[in-house]
Amino acid sequence: MKRVITFIGVASLSLVLMLGGCGTKAIPTSSSPQSSTVGTPVYKRTEVITSSDVAKKLLDDGNARFTSGKTLNKDLSATRRMDLEKNGQHPFAVIVSCSDSRVPPEVLYDEALGDLFVIRVAGNVVTPVELGSVEYAVEHLKTPLIVVLGHEGCGAVTAAVQGGEIPGSIGSIVEKIKPAIDEAKTSGVTGNDLIEKSVDFNVQNAIQDILKSPIVKHAVDTKESKILGAKYDLDTGVSTWYNE
Ligand SMILES: [Zn+2]
Repeated sequence: MKRVITFIGVASLSLVLMLGGCGTKAIPTSSSPQSSTVGTPVYKRTEVITSSDVAKKLLDDGNARFTSGKTLNKDLSATRRMDLEKNGQHPFAVIVSCSDSRVPPEVLYDEALGDLFVIRVAGNVVTPVELGSVEYAVEHLKTPLIVVLGHEGCGAVTAAVQGGEIPGSIGSIVEKIKPAIDEAKTSGVTGNDLIEKSVDFNVQNAIQDILKSPIVKHAVDTKESKILGAKYDLDTGVSTWYNE
């Protein structure tokens, strides 16, 4: 389907408001928090993305905007929320990422309401619970792209590498990460390199866990969906693909 991105600048918005009495429906701003953005472009996606390549490009473009400090002013208005409720969600990417507060997918990919279906768990591990969420997006929402997003300096991976006493239920996450550490150790790296190498293998293991789902496997085999790994750099803000 045709890709349409709507930008409403102050000039066009003023025109719409002026034409309000002529049968043109103006977007309400006075009763909405969105009113603070009048005078700057307002962004919302108005098409359904079905191509994984297009979805990947959207993430690349969004991350480029984020790292260059030129993020879009999103439409967070009540009108937009009602529109999404009425017409349903059509996110173009599933993002499985770490819970780390420095790695929020909607922010680092500069996306808006309804764009991303996000599953966040410390260490971006995939258990049957996370997998069920991925399956829902692929099966019911027909989301064309699945991304497992690891990141530099992951605390969960670091804890798993360091070992020792693990309190509470954190151990269940560490156990899930351990195979990646064993794989990383085979390359002979130590210290911080071992942590980063473990992050890399942990993403690949999560991808393999997701592909164990017959629902996802079928979607990938029939090219309805694609699965990729990416790594986020904490200080540069850059998201880099693994699978290329
Ligand atoms: Zn992390």
